[in-house]
Amino acid sequence: MRADVIKIFYRPEQAIIEEQPLNGSRSPEKARLLLEKISQKGMSNAFAIEGDFQAFSRADYLLAHDSIYVDSFLNGIMPLCESNNLRWSLDLVNAVAYSNSSLYHAIKHTVVNPKQIALSPTSGFHHATPLRGGGFCTFSGQVIAALKIFGEHRISGAFLDLDGHFGNSIDDSRDYCPELNLAIPKGCNINPQGVGREYIAHFKSQLEDLKVLVMNYDIGYVVFCHGADSHVDDDRGGQCTTEEWLECSKLFYEWLRDVDSLRGDPIPCSLALFGGYRKDNYDEVLRLHLSDLQQCLQIACQRSHVRMGAQ
Ligand SMILES: [Zn+2]
Repeated sequence: MRADVIKIFYRPEQAIIEEQPLNGSRSPEKARLLLEKISQKGMSNAFAIEGDFQAFSRADYLLAHDSIYVDSFLNGIMPLCESNNLRWSLDLVNAVAYSNSSLYHAIKHTVVNPKQIALSPTSGFHHATPLRGGGFCTFSGQVIAALKIFGEHRISGAFLDLDGHFGNSIDDSRDYCPELNLAIPKGCNINPQGVGREYIAHFKSQLEDLKVLVMNYDIGYVVFCHGADSHVDDDRGGQCTTEEWLECSKLFYEWLRDVDSLRGDPIPCSLALFGGYRKDNYDEVLRLHLSDLQQCLQIACQRSHVRMGAQ
């Protein structure tokens, strides 16, 4: 049986507020906005915030990135320090250090406490490559986290990346850090392709394939990253209608519940936010993420009632 409270790995430093975000991305402040929304919706009792973790350091980034790129970002040296398409600042350096650490600590928490689902309210990882950032992503947080987890626990993981854009950072890092082939085996950077029913059918077949690996204990943890930019109204993506987007959440959490039941013990599962861009109505991005969390609580955690009434 799963714990019915989701642990959120969050520190205020993760979120920064910009008056005029470069390229219109509000991702750097999404964690803070989502926590506000959870509170407004009367859902706080379904979450526990964990802020007792340290920021990542240069040594952590060097697990997956070249030192010239790491030092350029840490010290604000152009052009590499803005290869992520975000405006460089010391606040951003700090936010990136805590965001990457949040993802690692969320995964680590579930490996040590498999009954509890953990949320890292983060994005900005899956387009980064060993030599530079890209597409609002600075460092490959999943690559670093998986390498650290594998080093500490010898456990391999799978990332289900349902952001609207293909998450290239894992496969683009395999030559640079060969141990990644053990930490995230080939085929375990899961990105459904297609649009609408085709997208959902592909996701279903990927879940079936993953079930075999999980039941064989070849994969020891899963990370579900349901980016809101795979929604049709998003400024930068658009594979799924609202119903289809929520169906993907339902499919994953039902899969998780079934796998738990078949194994007889819960598989470590953590969540991350990934993309979501709506200049006209950012609230819709937050609503999608909240709806996903609500399904997690109801289906995977079997929490009978999750309040989401107040505006
Ligand atoms: Zn995206």
